[in-house]
Amino acid sequence: MKQVVILMGAPGSGKGSQAKLFMGEKGFFHISTGDLLRAEVEKKTDFGQEIKSYIDNGALVPDSVILNIVESKIVANDKMLFDGFPRNIRQAEALEKIFEKNNIKDVFIVRLDVDDDIILERVVNRFQCAKCGAIYNSKSRPTKVKGVCDICGSEDFKFRQDDRLEVVKSRLDVYYKETAPVLDFYEKGGKHKVFGFDSTKDPSDLFVEIFEKLKI
Ligand code: AMP
Repeated sequence: MKQVVILMGAPGSGKGSQAKLFMGEKGFFHISTGDLLRAEVEKKTDFGQEIKSYIDNGALVPDSVILNIVESKIVANDKMLFDGFPRNIRQAEALEKIFEKNNIKDVFIVRLDVDDDIILERVVNRFQCAKCGAIYNSKSRPTKVKGVCDICGSEDFKFRQDDRLEVVKSRLDVYYKETAPVLDFYEKGGKHKVFGFDSTKDPSDLFVEIFEKLKI
């Protein structure tokens, strides 16, 4: 039976860190629309260039592009974790249709709560290992040895263009306008259970707490 967990929360609320634990510890297949879009941008095609202009401005990529990407992934996997999707009500409604079509009933919504001032601090200081994807923060979570990834030992790191302060502020605006209503949609719709968590906690502790609550 297919099982879906949807990670919801503002940019920088810790979705990526939890996703890594869901994959590594529980074997979930990670569907991050942001990662899939960035991979498309890397290919440097015309389509990738078009996507890049949305991402660099902190705007949402058109729903039709996103839904095509997501539907191709959903059929092939049993335990799925959505990260960064659905991002607006239209995507949430389309996803309900995909659930019906594929007879998916086991759906859990995980809401990660963090205040905006912490989010801004987290995102503008974050960087990532270019090899294994481990996420760090130059102020609150640096690598143990300067310039060396704790997990894989790589010395190659990357920063996201859209983590600059002006862009993060736009992304937060888009989040409150477009994505926060999706939480209302789930909370009031009553179809799927919504579980809220304080995402200022240590990611590993929080991960244990999430699984205790979800009982999956
Ligand atoms: P993320 O990595 O989830 O923070 O996404 C980075 C950027 O990719 C967002 O600011 C959007 O421009 C785009 N994006 C990611 N997921 C979606 C989505 N579900 N719908 C529209 N745009 C998206």
